[in-house]
Amino acid sequence: MREYKELYIGGSWAAPSHDRFVDVVSPHSQEVVGTAPEGTPDDVDRAVAAARHAFDHGPWPTMDPKERLAAVQRIADAYNARQAELSELISTEMGAPLWFSQVGQVGATSMALAAFLNFGAQYPWEERRTGFFGQDVVVRREPAGVAGMITPWNVPHFTTISKLIPALLAGCTVVLKPSEEVPLSVLALAEIIDEAGLPEGVVSIIPAGRDTGEHLVRHPGVDKISFTGSPTAGKRIASLCGQDLRRVTLELGAKSAAIILDDADLAMTIERLPLASLLNSGQACIAQTRILASRQRYDEVVDAVTTMVNGLPVGDPLDAANYIGPMVSQRQQQRVDGYITLGQEEGARLVTGGNGMPDGLDRGWYVRPTVFADVDNRMRIAQEEIFGPVLAVIPYDDEADAIRIANDSAYGLGGSVWTSDVEHGVDVARKIRTGTLGINQYLLDFNSPFGGYKSSGFGREFGPEGIEPYIEYKSIALPLG
Ligand code: NAD
Repeated sequence: MREYKELYIGGSWAAPSHDRFVDVVSPHSQEVVGTAPEGTPDDVDRAVAAARHAFDHGPWPTMDPKERLAAVQRIADAYNARQAELSELISTEMGAPLWFSQVGQVGATSMALAAFLNFGAQYPWEERRTGFFGQDVVVRREPAGVAGMITPWNVPHFTTISKLIPALLAGCTVVLKPSEEVPLSVLALAEIIDEAGLPEGVVSIIPAGRDTGEHLVRHPGVDKISFTGSPTAGKRIASLCGQDLRRVTLELGAKSAAIILDDADLAMTIERLPLASLLNSGQACIAQTRILASRQRYDEVVDAVTTMVNGLPVGDPLDAANYIGPMVSQRQQQRVDGYITLGQEEGARLVTGGNGMPDGLDRGWYVRPTVFADVDNRMRIAQEEIFGPVLAVIPYDDEADAIRIANDSAYGLGGSVWTSDVEHGVDVARKIRTGTLGINQYLLDFNSPFGGYKSSGFGREFGPEGIEPYIEYKSIALPLG
């Protein structure tokens, strides 16, 4: 049982403005595993006031970038010292299988921290260039101001670090509103940031619901919003930011495709596919849940995918042997189960899985890992993000048809091409309108920009490009002659 009684406001632990506490229930055991305060708009007001003051008057935005880098190094050190505990905490709270918490939640957060420390050390915060008229110009990358951040429950530390760290390196002050589903994981992160000893007002962390998030988005004291979450919320947030011309970046959902070309080594493809398509029990924005297979090898691919899915152990997320855990909540379980019903109603062929609980489990928010074959890309199960372990195997006629189907989506975030000719795979990848792709695997690379085309959002995270959302450019032209 982990109990938090305070929120992290303006760089200190502080009692919440209202007596609102939530019980955190394990998605596996359905037992209470912790309690935490739920933030309110009043808490956001306090946090924004502190962040505003720290930005307008504090040392943080104007200090030597090397000092901010040193503070981020302290955060990384404190985070790395608690990796094992944090992995277990995330698995307990939101049900990610332990292997994924270790690799894709906490491990990825640690690697992303290392990557940002590297970019931060080399970043050209200020440079001089020769202007058009021959004079010198000082080009500065200045902090964007007070940054409001809103994050989802599925990868709570990773989606936080991808925003918080570049913002801190740039000199922004930050008010973070994580999802109310993961207060324990994000308040543990607040402990780590507290340990790193940043100046007063620089970071606040207030887990809370949608209304409090919207209060942050509308807040006149906030200069920039960075959001990761569903496309529906993203549209609403973008329109609110538009009204005030507040800067905004959006990392949203997707429905990505894994294209298996005819020359793919099918055994290798199937071995690596779970990491591309079923990571975090399918609750991943980058999950490639549309599997595109040519009609020539269609039956072979459907059989192989089915055998693979049937072989994935499902159960207690804290048991390292399990590949698939529960859904985060009953609401998510019902949503995924609803799509499994829908797929059957739409006429897709249910090959394995289906409605109801997996064999051997009688409690927890589980769904049965499911494969649909004979899926038409126009079906809703091929167009909408299900966010669970449900795969749609879609036939294509030839390579051009595969590319057309992959691109026939409102989204464009991830994707992969599976082939024995890597360069040809890169050629195919060039034709897919999506922000990241992998050849014969899927990798979210921390040295490279990550983000979405189309309804998957705008702006990029990671790589040196990941610092851009948190800076304003300023050009100072020196006298001619
Ligand atoms: P969600 O949109 O319901 O909630 C995300 C966050 O936004 C939560 O903190 C929530 O409280 C807040 N929120 C919701 N509506 C809001 C509003 N109108 N104003 C302000 N805040 C609001 O999404 P979720 O269910 O928590 O997460 C799953 C979604 O996140 C999926 O669509 C997934 O693809 C997406 N996601 C995207 C990425 C990415 O990098 N592209 C990464 C992880 C998750």
